[in-house]
Amino acid sequence: MDYLLTDEQKMLKEMVGKFAEEKIGPVASENERNHRFPKEIIDEAGQLGLMGIAYPTEYGGAGMDYVSYFLAVEQVSRWCASTGVIISAHTSLVCDPIYRFGTEEQKQKYLPDLLSGKKIGAFSLTEASAGSDSGNTKTVARKEGNKWIINGSKLFATNGNEASVFILIARTSGEKHRGLSAFIVERDMPGYKIGKLEKKLGIRSSSTAEIILDNVEVPESNLLGKEGDGFKISMVSLDGGRLGITAQALGIARAAIEDSIKYSKERFQFDQPISDFQAIQWMIADMFTEYEAAFLLGWRASKMKDLGLNYSREAAMAKLKASETAMFCANKGIQIHGGYGYTEDFNMERYYRDAKITEIYEGTSEIQRLVISKSLLK
Ligand SMILES: Cc1cc2nc3c(=O)[nH]c(=O)nc-3n(C[C@H](O)[C@H](O)[C@H](O)COP(=O)(O)OP(=O)(O)OC[C@H]3O[C@@H](n4cnc5c(N)ncnc54)[C@H](O)[C@@H]3O)c2cc1C
Repeated sequence: MDYLLTDEQKMLKEMVGKFAEEKIGPVASENERNHRFPKEIIDEAGQLGLMGIAYPTEYGGAGMDYVSYFLAVEQVSRWCASTGVIISAHTSLVCDPIYRFGTEEQKQKYLPDLLSGKKIGAFSLTEASAGSDSGNTKTVARKEGNKWIINGSKLFATNGNEASVFILIARTSGEKHRGLSAFIVERDMPGYKIGKLEKKLGIRSSSTAEIILDNVEVPESNLLGKEGDGFKISMVSLDGGRLGITAQALGIARAAIEDSIKYSKERFQFDQPISDFQAIQWMIADMFTEYEAAFLLGWRASKMKDLGLNYSREAAMAKLKASETAMFCANKGIQIHGGYGYTEDFNMERYYRDAKITEIYEGTSEIQRLVISKSLLK
């Protein structure tokens, strides 16, 4: 579907595809099985401009658009879904809110190092009692003189173990949603600790960390947006984040399809390649049809974001469809690989493990359906 893309977008897609195939693909499985963060890959991605694709060059970004970012995350995730989410969480949930809601001083201070990949960002909204119901946030920020004092604990921060800049949501008043505020918190602020690192089913090269806040002193100037804007900032950022996860899911689906096509031509049973069996042909046809439908939804929502349109519902539809497509394709991919697909000798089991999280984070599939139906039934 390259005819949908501008020449610049096509060039970026090709460049990132080559980088991902040559540099990320060969080490992805080993890194993932060893729970190893791909630091050298992220450093190189930073040098290539991939940690700040959609942001202006004046802040150190690549000056491209969100469609380009969407294409790049898909290309990376085709080879390694962990690397895809590292880039996506950093970009959509940290760079984007600072660029969109930050003061000029905050942008000058944080964006150049983030957009160049010198520093990694993490976003911390989820807590033990605040998952889908993020308005139930218990972490508290209390104003003392010209500082905010933050106390509480956060769960499941992607990049939490490596990040030095965090967008953190804390309660500044009693109102459920309007009582939340967003803060830019730095790792070396006193009282800030990384807690438990989750052991996960998949995407094991990306860290998922608990964050403990014990009287963390945050300068007044690190409030992002206005007091009470935290929920709004989170929801706007998650709309963009859902496009990153759409792209991640598409990358996983495409990996499953490409590997299945190759394997089905090479594997012989009953004296013929299994690709000769209609059962296999139909699985591949269904996988590719689902993939293209999901890609179009993702491309459309990214384009809407670039055009400045409201794309919340379209982002939810794209993420819902792409994540279910990733699961569908990985499942069929294992079926096509038979018993070998169930072993670590092939990448298919990794795609299957990686696909599942796309139905959960940045809003579960049930929450996406809630967003979509609310906009239709209002
Ligand atoms: C690997 C990983 C990385 C993550 N990264 C981040 C991150 O970087 N930053 C961050 O802040 N969080 C992150 N999260 C948290 C993630 O966004 C949440 O896990 C997710 O939003 C779901 O919340 P929960 O786990 O508390 O599930 P719950 O909210 O407890 O949901 C449990 C079940 O109930 C359903 N449910 C809940 N409410 C409703 C409803 N109203 N209607 C219908 N069904 C409902 C859910 O869909 C789900 O099936 C991450 C999680 C994981 C596992």
